[in-house]
Amino acid sequence: MLNRMQDRVYNFSPGPAVLPLKVLQEAQRDLLSLPGVGISPLEISHRSPWFDGVLNETEANLRRLLSIPDNYRIVFMQGGSRLQFSLVAMNLLRGAGRSADYLVTGTWGQMAMQEAAREGTARAAWHGKPHNFDRLPADRELDLDPKAAYVHITSNETIQGVQFAREPEVGGVPLVCDASSDFLCRPLPMEHYGLIYACAQKNAGPAGVTVVIIRDDLLESIDDGLPTMLDYRAYVKEKSLLNTPPVFAVYLVMLVTRWLLDDVGGLAKMHEINRRKSQMLYEVIDQSQGFYRGHAQPESRSLMNVTFRLPDDATQDQFVKQAKARGLVELKGHRSVGGIRASVYNAMPMEGAEKLRDFMREFAKIK
Ligand SMILES: *Cc1c(COP(=O)(O)O)cnc(C)c1O
Repeated sequence: MLNRMQDRVYNFSPGPAVLPLKVLQEAQRDLLSLPGVGISPLEISHRSPWFDGVLNETEANLRRLLSIPDNYRIVFMQGGSRLQFSLVAMNLLRGAGRSADYLVTGTWGQMAMQEAAREGTARAAWHGKPHNFDRLPADRELDLDPKAAYVHITSNETIQGVQFAREPEVGGVPLVCDASSDFLCRPLPMEHYGLIYACAQKNAGPAGVTVVIIRDDLLESIDDGLPTMLDYRAYVKEKSLLNTPPVFAVYLVMLVTRWLLDDVGGLAKMHEINRRKSQMLYEVIDQSQGFYRGHAQPESRSLMNVTFRLPDDATQDQFVKQAKARGLVELKGHRSVGGIRASVYNAMPMEGAEKLRDFMREFAKIK
């Protein structure tokens, strides 16, 4: 066991991503037999009192962490965030007789809009393609339709590494947010949102479960013709037990939320730590006199995914190779954009970010 521990490297993968060590240890401890139950969390019924407790605690923890008001429901779904691209439009656009506005800030936002367009009219209220998705819009740049069914944003574009510092001002139109890669990275003013969805495998747990938080009034507007398994109301009504949910994945989300509450001390603390981790990497980029070129403009920089380029591909390959030799892995950027991407999610320890910072300084020969 000890050797396995010593084998652990710093995993900068964008997802599935690093989990808190404590969470893995707890899951390991319980894997063969849950205390007082005698069954593994991989074997146990989703109708068991144990899992009922898991669902209740996970929801309660999320409510505490994000101060979620009583007029919001929380459900746990499968199909990842990409299924949500379709479900949001099926549930909120179908039959609405209106169009939806999309703020296209990167690859994921673009894909979300394309999927919505299969279901109804989706228009870009802003599009970042002309400047290669290197920044986010100011409110005055938005071309919003005041009658839209909803406005969709991607709070953090995982591939480009741009993140909204705060919610855009969208008037009375419900704000729908793909928060897949920055869910739980900081406190949120929940009342600004109509719906938030996040697959767990970036910042909240393992792959297999997606958290959806939805305001009551949006549930009321859903069209009756949807297949049951695609209708948010059915998940709310059956408390996420419409069919067999991903039991083990929800259990890990519970452990992660517990870790955030008990060990980190809440999302304001987490935010502060995330700022420090990303800041130390951006500082090296800014001090490198152009050796490292950050992708995102400074005011749109992500706390979660730090994206940059080196002078040429050969140097970049060297960087990835030498980093790996030091136990700093998964630094290669997304295949669609190239470059380097260091994902420093909640569970990336401070020492991991420090080690990467030191390596970046050394590699660029910064004194
Ligand atoms: C990873 C990611 C997705 C896709 O999630 P899946 O669970 O793989 O479908 C969507 N949006 C964002 C912002 C992501 O980071």
